[in-house]
Amino acid sequence: MAKGQQIMCSVNSCHYWKSGNQCDANSIMVTADSFAASAPDTIDAPQASTLSATPTQNCQETCCKTFVHKGSGKEGMDSVMKS
Ligand code: SF4
Repeated sequence: MAKGQQIMCSVNSCHYWKSGNQCDANSIMVTADSFAASAPDTIDAPQASTLSATPTQNCQETCCKTFVHKGSGKEGMDSVMKS
């Protein structure tokens, strides 16, 4: 995260969630639902600067692509680390 930036998140089934509804990932990727549904789990925040923009019309069309379900065995596929 940018220095001093804090991401608050209530999705406590995520591997990166920590108490106080905080995100403990060192970076996250927010994108359009349509892109998240079609891109593999290996595409995430580390590749974000090379991806095309994905405009949406409202917040309901966006999501956190960095979400990984706790205990899914997919932790680490996205190359994102905990802070
Ligand atoms: S990675 Fe996304 S879903 Fe997971 S805790 Fe952080 S903001 Fe929430």
